[in-house]
Formats: sequence, C-alpha cells, structure tokens
Amino acid sequence: MRLSRYFLPVLKEEPKEAQIVSHRLMLRSGMIRQQAAGIYSWLPLGNKILKRIEQIVHEEQQRAGHIPLLMPTLQPADLWRRSGRYDAYGEEMLRITDRNKREMLYGPTNEEMITDIFRSYVSSYKSLPLTLYHIQWKFRDEMRPRFGVMRGREFLMKDGYNFDLTKEDALHAYNRHLVSYLRTYERMGLQAIPMRADGGPIGGDYTHEFLVLAETGESEVFYDSEITDLKFGNRQIDYDSVEQCEGVLQEFTSRYARTDETHDEAIFAEVPEDRRRSARGIEVGQIFYFGTKYSEAMGANVVNDKGERVPAHMGSHGIGVSRLLGAIIEANHDDKGIIWPEGVTPFHVGIVNLKQGDASTDSASEALYTELKAAGLDPLYDDRDERAGAKFATIDLIGLPWRITVGPRGLAENKVELTNRRSGESVEMSPAEAVQRLK
Ligand code: ATP
Ligand code: MG
Ligand code: MG
Ligand code: MG
Repeated sequence: MRLSRYFLPVLKEEPKEAQIVSHRLMLRSGMIRQQAAGIYSWLPLGNKILKRIEQIVHEEQQRAGHIPLLMPTLQPADLWRRSGRYDAYGEEMLRITDRNKREMLYGPTNEEMITDIFRSYVSSYKSLPLTLYHIQWKFRDEMRPRFGVMRGREFLMKDGYNFDLTKEDALHAYNRHLVSYLRTYERMGLQAIPMRADGGPIGGDYTHEFLVLAETGESEVFYDSEITDLKFGNRQIDYDSVEQCEGVLQEFTSRYARTDETHDEAIFAEVPEDRRRSARGIEVGQIFYFGTKYSEAMGANVVNDKGERVPAHMGSHGIGVSRLLGAIIEANHDDKGIIWPEGVTPFHVGIVNLKQGDASTDSASEALYTELKAAGLDPLYDDRDERAGAKFATIDLIGLPWRITVGPRGLAENKVELTNRRSGESVEMSPAEAVQRLK
C-alpha cells in the first residue's frame, strides 16, 4: 500500500476521551471511530488488524477440528424463552420489536441458537463429537462501556459450542479448546493465563478465563509467579489425543491462578510467599463445560448405542476478538506508539523515502516496494511529500515492526537503513539484503 493513496486519518492531538493507552493509540492511529457509546466504525487500519486476528482464530480453531458456520446477529425472543434466559438476562440484552410486533433481540451469545440448529439435524451419537463455531458481532448493553473496544457494546466474538455424548468426551472438548486458545494467544504475541473462574449467568462446573496481565485490566487476579514461565511454544499436538490435551491442561492449570471471583486465601497461602502475586488482568477468553443445561431445556437429544435418547453434553468457548486489539496494545507499546507483534501487524514493514521527488530515492523506494511484495510481504510505502520526522512518527505510531529508510546519502553507497521498532536498533545494508532479512 502507498500511504498517499491509503486512508489513515492519524490524529495530531491527544484524544481527551480516552482513559487508557490502547484506546488513545487506537484513536490516534486512525484505527477506530466511535459512533455511539461502545459502538465503533473500524477504519481501514483497524479493520486490517481485526481481520488478521480473526484469521489466526479461524486457523487455530480449524486446526483443532472445529467447524465454522455463521449465525445471524438478530435472534427471535422465543428461542430464549425456551431456555428460560429471556427474562434472566436482564438489561444487558438489547430487545427489538419488528414491524409485525415480533420480539427479537441482538444476540449477546448463541447457546440457544446453536442448540436449536443441533437438535434440528442431529439425532444419533454417530454424528458426535461435533464442535461448531462462528466469529460474529455481539451486542451487550453494558452499564459502563469504556476503554474503547475493550468494553464495547457491539463487539466481535468467536464463540464455539461442543456437542458430545458423554461428560468425558465433553471434557476432552474442553481441554482441546484450552490447548487451541494457548496457541492462538501466543501467535498474537500475548501471554494469556488460564485462571479458574466462576460460572456466572451461563452457569457451569468447569470454567477457565484467559487473562492478559495489564495494569489497566478490569479483573483482579491472584497467581503463582511460576505460571508466567510456561510457554506453549511450537509443540505439535494431536487434538484427538485425550492424553496429550489433558497433559497440557494439567501443566497450565496445576499452579494457583484465580480471578477474584474464585480466589481462596487459604489455598493461596500454600503458595511460597515469594511467588504469590496479585495483579490486574484483561479477560480475553473463557471456556465452559455446562453439561446438559441447554440440551435438556431445549430437547437436544441423541440416541446412544443402546438405543436410548440422551441429552447432549455441551460447552461453550469464547474469544474476545475485538477486545484483543486493545489487549495486544496494552501489552505492546512505548511512548512513540504501538509495537505490533509480527503475527498481527497490519503491514510487515514501512518504507520511508527521506527525499520524495528525488530521482534516486524514488526509484530505490519503488524497487523495494515491488520486491517486498514479490517476496510475499505486505509493505506500507510512505510516499507522501512530508518531513522525515513526520514520516518516522507515523510509522512508529502505527506500530510497524520494521522500517526501511531510504535516503540520498546512503544510496550513494547502495545502502538503506533497516530499523527494528521494538529494540530501536538500526543497521545499514544494501536494499537486496534488507529484503532478504525480512523474508
Ligand atoms: P467481562 O467479564 O469482561 O464482562 P464476560 O465474562 O461477560 O466478559 P464472556 O461471556 O465470557 O464475557 O464472552 C467471551 C469473551 O468476549 C470475553 O472473554 C471477552 O474477551 C469478550 N467480551 C465480553 N464482553 C465484551 C465487551 N463488552 N466488549 C468487548 N469484548 C467483550
Ligand atoms: Mg460481561
Ligand atoms: Mg467475565
Ligand atoms: Mg467471561
């Protein structure tokens, strides 16, 4: 992309309405625009990153064997009356009446609808196990929408639902989700710690929340510091293997890590004192096993191998896709702006032409731009007629992990400068070498 032809409405002024750094940086770098409290337009840069995050979520869900579908944002109220949640959900649910006076709602989650789909088509245990998921907008009329996309009212969520014949099978699905989430967050450059959580209004016996440690997090958390040394890394997991998934769950959940809702001072006291930590965290996902709660209420039964009709064992598993942008920025920024982890960066590298209009820097920049694209990378070429300082500030603000600076002095010796955003380190090399390094 050439910056002169892109739409990147960077703000010069500090936005006053933003209380936390990620919200401030998302507004300043022209990623989002607020349209109403907790409701945002995703401008091209924000949209591009949102799509990258969605793509990672899709890849990791499908790697785990989960199947994508797409359910609507609007749902009929009747579906929720059958589960008994229509009244229970309260004011967080946005209720809508259509022209025929039918009661509708903007879905805050999809347990009812997916259970309805399941029971309409599946009747035999032979179709199980089955996990269906989608990435779709949700609406929750939050009491205090704030912190930008972190607590929006309209927000993007990946929600997945497993259907299994037995509790044992459903717990394997639970463990499989835990493994796939660990991989997902690490690919985004985040450490998200699974913590024992509370069932809440959905209810459930087994549930973990995934928390990214950050001072601006809304949750209070307590943990054994050893847990932050655990890395999932590049291990190959057979998602069908009960032992392997269970092993990962044991490894990542055997140390103390709880949110304030389940925190227990007596158990926490058994952790050696120098390893006891209390901190704040951002909830970026949650997994639940809730048994037959919805399948019984809504008649989602299957026939087992003895010919008996039994309710399916279910769980639901969510990732806060749009919230993740805020969480990644909270964990990756400095006073110049965002520092995108390579896995989610909107552009791999920014090309800064120090002397726009100069024949040699123009042609060298153009050549770099073409070669980087030919190498399969997505470069952003700052071809505007701006001062060098303004160009650097923009590339730093929007957080591209690499910058190539093309100036007349260096070019005289066939040199450009390759700069790493995170370390600030700059190295001179030929344009061909720079392309080679970034490949
Ligand atoms: P919170 O405790 O932050 O209100 P939740 O527990 O109500 O979240 P879940 O029902 O577990 O949310 O939904 C799954 C994920 O969706 C959450 O882990 C979170 O990352 C994301 N999420 C929930 N509410 C919002 C919101 N208002 N804005 C953005 N993301 C959200
Ligand atoms: Mg909530
Ligand atoms: Mg929560
Ligand atoms: Mg939750």
